[in-house]
Order: sequence, then C-alpha cells, then structure tokens
Amino acid sequence: MFSTMQQLWQQGLNLLLPHRCPSCDANLPAAAHGGFCASCYGQLPWWNPSQLLPPKLPRALNSFQAPLLYAEPLRQPLLAFKFTDATHLAPVLARLLYPYLPAAPNTVLVPVPMHPSSLRQRTYNHAALLVQELSKLSGLPHDCLSLQRVRAGEAQHNQSRAGRLRLTRSSFACGPRLAGKTVVLIDDIFTTGATLGACAGALKAGGAAEVHGRTLAYTQP
Ligand SMILES: [Zn+2]
Repeated sequence: MFSTMQQLWQQGLNLLLPHRCPSCDANLPAAAHGGFCASCYGQLPWWNPSQLLPPKLPRALNSFQAPLLYAEPLRQPLLAFKFTDATHLAPVLARLLYPYLPAAPNTVLVPVPMHPSSLRQRTYNHAALLVQELSKLSGLPHDCLSLQRVRAGEAQHNQSRAGRLRLTRSSFACGPRLAGKTVVLIDDIFTTGATLGACAGALKAGGAAEVHGRTLAYTQP
C-alpha cells in the first residue's frame, strides 16, 4: 500500500520540482496540454477504431474503450508510471482517460487489483492510482478493495493467448459490495483482454450489473 509518508514526500517533490513533460522531460508551465509539451501532445497516438479494429471482447465485459494506442510518446511515461515509481504521472495520465468514462447511474470505479505479494514488492498499484485520480475528476465513487487478486500471476508479456487465459482463470474474487452496480474497470493497457475479462467475470459473479472496461492504451498481441 502506498504509505502516507510516501504520498507526503511525493506532494513535497511536486511543489519543489518544476513540471516536466512526462515524455521528453522538457520544462513546462503547469497544466500545459494536459501535462505534456505541445510537441509530444501533438504526437500522442490517439486510437481511431476505424483504422485499428476494436478487439473481440471477453463475454463478461459490456464495453471497452481506450483513448490511445500503446506507442510513443505515451509508451515510456506509461512504463515509468507502472514500473519505476513515477507515481506523480497519475493525474496527467488520468486526464487522458477521464473523457472516456461512461455516464451511467450507480457507477463505481474499480482498478484491476494486484496480488498482495506483487503489491508488497512494487509498493503501489498503478491502476488504483489512476482510479483515485479519475474519482477526483469525475466525482464518481471508487472501490479499491472489493475486487481482489487471489492468485499471483506470472508476467504475461511473453505468454501466448492460451497461456494468458490459463493464468488469469480464477485469479480474481469479488466481495458483495458491488452487487447491482455499474462497474468501470480501470487498467493501463488492453492487450488480449484476458485480465479484464477475468476481472469482469469475478465482478459479475459478485453481482455487478454491468462491467465496462477502460484502459489508457490498446495494443494488439
Ligand atoms: Zn514533450
């Protein structure tokens, strides 16, 4: 769990350090182009589903959208955010995803959870940080506890589609608090949809009425 001391330290750093473009590291006036410099913002790889067709969705997922493709100049900041403690990028990245949240009554934002052993190692769940920022932007409630990863998964990037499906099957479980809710399930990247599909299956088994997947980026396996 991201500790209060770490959060205070990060907030202090944010005040002391000038704002920089998360992609090219240029110095920026605050809040320019959603947190990116004009050049990088202009090159962001927005996903046009008529050019790259949407994926076949897992059955438990009611809808899926992502604003961007997993390519530069988004790829490096996303890797830093996920793996190397660049947690200060959460507000910048959340602003890109915010316009894609569905507007439905009874909506709750839920992150794809990490297994407790992974969370201890990495100290934060990047998807939960996105959810917290999206909750601030939208005013929608969030729930980072009900959906749990109950089985540790191996790193998925080298797995075949069948391998990923096998790894994620029965990896997640959901408590009763989301029964009857419209859940917006948040993660960083959609590749095969196996993780989002397994989470959506657990949420539906826990009584969620609808599950809509939203990730920052889409990439084909
Ligand atoms: Zn830049």
